Amino acid sequence: MDEIKILDIPITNINKLELLKGIDEHFQSPEGNLFFVTANPEIIMLTKSSTSYKEVIKSADYVLADGIGVLIASKILGVPLREKLPGYELMHDFLAYANWHGKTVYFFGAKPGVAEQAAKNAKAEYRGLKVAGFMDGYTNKGPLVANEIAETKPDFVFVAMGAPLQERWIAKYKDLFPTSVLVGVGGSFDVLSGNVKRAPKFWTSNNLEWLYRLVTQPTRAKRMMQIPLFLVNVVRERFSK
Ligand code: UDP
Repeated sequence: MDEIKILDIPITNINKLELLKGIDEHFQSPEGNLFFVTANPEIIMLTKSSTSYKEVIKSADYVLADGIGVLIASKILGVPLREKLPGYELMHDFLAYANWHGKTVYFFGAKPGVAEQAAKNAKAEYRGLKVAGFMDGYTNKGPLVANEIAETKPDFVFVAMGAPLQERWIAKYKDLFPTSVLVGVGGSFDVLSGNVKRAPKFWTSNNLEWLYRLVTQPTRAKRMMQIPLFLVNVVRERFSK
């Protein structure tokens, strides 16, 4: 698979169409499970301060560029990625795929009640969607809940606990899901459930989603400082070559 290294993290250089084709091939003859990471600058910066988290991210089958920050980094490095694939949109693409192909989906993560509401809204949007189950991301995050989720034999598992928790959880328990597609989707259930508003189209289509989030959720400011730091590191890498 075509990959582009950004700060030593191999990002899968793929577009949405190819990705969905890959999912289709996977379900026709599964050779194991598939672990998806939607990488943003924050995730990539976290891998710099934790070798164990870096191993987790490197063990994923697909590490996708979640947003414009990673795309800009690829341009700075002179190896431009073809497309950004934000976690929220990926989740919708997988929901549409699951609905069309009769695959089941499990919603794991977010505050109590949120995953359930997200599942309800998904069913309303994708009529006929088969929901394997839902579970909040606070009550239990250990083997008990992992086994309970695995028993429902979900085709897709959306894990919405934020980074690094969600990727660590998937890496730890993915063997319980022999043919599933497991995806870390961050705060996506908060949006799907209607608790948090996603940036309106103007902001997303102008690559300003990060600014919208900063303005509407100023508590994220500290975390978002990772974005300029990330770009500084990328520029440094560019000129160290
Ligand atoms: N969360 C969780 N369990 C935890 C900590 C967080 O389920 O122990 C959830 C939290 O409720 C939120 C999501 O993880 O729904 C993280 O959202 P955030 O917006 O921080 O993620 P991002 O989209 O930025 O990756």
